[in-house]
Amino acid sequence: MNPTLSLSPGPGAAQETLKVRGACPHDCPDTCSLLTTVENGIALKVQGNPDHAQTGGVLCTKVSRYTERSYHPERILQPLKRVGPKGAGRFEPVSWEAALDEIADRLQTIASRNPEAIVPYSYAGTMGLVQSESMAARFFNHLGASLLDRTICSAAGGEAVTQTLGGKVGMKVEFFAESQLIIIWGSNSIASNLHFWRYVQEAKRQGARVVCIDPRKTETAEKCHEHIALRPGTDAALALGLMHELIVNDWLDHDYIDQHTVGWAALKERALGWPPERAAQVCGVPMEQIKALARDYGNTQPAAIRLNYGMQRVRGGGNAARAIACLPALTGAWRQRAGGLLLSSSGMFPVNKAALQRPDLLAGRWPRTINMSTIGNDLLKDSSPAFGPKIEALIVYNSNPVAVAPESGQVVRGFEREDLFTVVLEHFQTDTADYADFILPATTQLEHWDIHTAYGHTDVLLNRPAIAALGQAWPNTAIFRALAARMGFTDPCFADDDETLCRTAFSHPDGDKINFQELLDQGFATLPVPDAPFANGHFPTPSGKCEFFSARLAAQGLDGLPDHIPNYETAGSSSDFPLAMISPPARNFLNSSFVNVKSLRDIEGEPLLEIHADDAAARGIVSGAVVRVFNQRGEYRCKAKVSARARPGVVHGLGVWWRKLGLDGSNVNQLTSQHLTDLGRGPVFYDCLVEVQLDSAASL
Ligand code: SF4
Repeated sequence: MNPTLSLSPGPGAAQETLKVRGACPHDCPDTCSLLTTVENGIALKVQGNPDHAQTGGVLCTKVSRYTERSYHPERILQPLKRVGPKGAGRFEPVSWEAALDEIADRLQTIASRNPEAIVPYSYAGTMGLVQSESMAARFFNHLGASLLDRTICSAAGGEAVTQTLGGKVGMKVEFFAESQLIIIWGSNSIASNLHFWRYVQEAKRQGARVVCIDPRKTETAEKCHEHIALRPGTDAALALGLMHELIVNDWLDHDYIDQHTVGWAALKERALGWPPERAAQVCGVPMEQIKALARDYGNTQPAAIRLNYGMQRVRGGGNAARAIACLPALTGAWRQRAGGLLLSSSGMFPVNKAALQRPDLLAGRWPRTINMSTIGNDLLKDSSPAFGPKIEALIVYNSNPVAVAPESGQVVRGFEREDLFTVVLEHFQTDTADYADFILPATTQLEHWDIHTAYGHTDVLLNRPAIAALGQAWPNTAIFRALAARMGFTDPCFADDDETLCRTAFSHPDGDKINFQELLDQGFATLPVPDAPFANGHFPTPSGKCEFFSARLAAQGLDGLPDHIPNYETAGSSSDFPLAMISPPARNFLNSSFVNVKSLRDIEGEPLLEIHADDAAARGIVSGAVVRVFNQRGEYRCKAKVSARARPGVVHGLGVWWRKLGLDGSNVNQLTSQHLTDLGRGPVFYDCLVEVQLDSAASL
């Protein structure tokens, strides 16, 4: 039976025009409320819901093209089985029955030897709680497969705010509109946090000053009053330099520090070692800029920091985020609702993960954990006592690791292994799908149920299916349900349908934490979060205070205080590779999603490397020239764009392009490393030295 039939097919079959409420599934803080216009079962357009304040009726360009993505002629709409060599991308259609039978059979055989040889690989291809880790987690838990450490985006920053503030908690985003000083730190908000930018504009109209801290002169930096273009990986030095100035000028809220923080004396001593001269030298910015920002931050109320994840993709990213997260407690900025800091609001949602994911199905087993950021190395490891069994099967869903995981030369070598059994649940034949043994067609957000939290606001959203599943596509849940049935998993939890899973997400033994009827009626529901959650302390840390000093980190043998930890690949440390490279997202892509949507790819054009005029001139490079970008890990060819967005010594490889669309079938991750961050074991995409040369062969 096709399990999609057990789902409510949605109202798409009605012979009339309907507007169906949904939620944007993409990895973006804004989690917009969608309205899909459906006529005779066809989705005509997707718009922002004007009734949802955080969306305000506006979507980004990417998702306003969502129908183009869902009805894309290259959608995978039937199960496919590999017929060519791995990576060649040659497949033949196969029935669901045959595909599921063979997959279940292979997994059963491997599991009978050691289920930990099976690895799930997934991330934020959808942020929905149901189509990500609900039925999938139940399936892998029951199986006893390896666990996956989902570190690839936010692990260092998440761990940093957890150690400092107690969780992924912070200001309510709407109150940035009332701030008088906004520091946008490590974020191109116009490209990747558009709805926050609306609040910034409102604050600007009320006279707020807006400062952007980012190595790249982004669209956002251009529109701020000031741009501090620091070297990649020096954010902690800047934060400590700011602290130094706050201390020596006594721009501090002593009462707040006394009552609501831990470790002040030690932090003070640490920060006094960072006079602005030293910070300026490390960051590569004028000392006066640091002093002026400290003066503004210490004397403006309310002052708010919008921190984002770009800055934590370096060796010391966790410490940097910790140092920045200490700043609002020093000045007492948390006292006002328009003051404080926001990195992520995701920790404010009372999700019942245990009910959704059922870790009890592990039944006392504790499988090894694979870090998704080192999948390149791990796929190439043999069995050993330290590593455990060699990885024999990889089930990929909501992710495209061949394009997005670091050091992709290694990743590709791993995926090429003939003895690796790879199943990919996908909408399109991505770089990863090219290496699959089976590709299983997954539904898009227009075709399934889901429920969403957010990491940029505090509303819960429900996604109803707007149209019936296209072709033979199934929701991820249905695929794992069907595999569970074939593998003889009889726990009743595998019979839960998707609407039940949506209801489960916020159900707790002491009562539901969200009114599900409200979600059904209006598509969203707002969490009851206080306006100024830390005005009187009450941080969700063990001490209940903002922890400048973290006893938990110290107990792990780590520095209990934040510090500047230089990059693995520090600018200026290599004569062979003199340029620092960061790889920020291209504005019209979202990670590697949307790269194959023609209207968006036409806007982006082609893979580009932004380079400063001085660095370009020194190498004889002009805009449009094909360049070789290389380091000890590999080489990537693309076109150069001489650009004022780049500071001298830093180049920008905009991502994340699909490898197969690049000049040589590779992308910028050919150059990134598998080193890990100081906290959270995350990747260090922006801690990468390269050299750039004109490709003389291409220029002839
Ligand atoms: S990607 Fe972000 S801004 Fe765009 S529709 Fe989705 S949530 Fe909204």
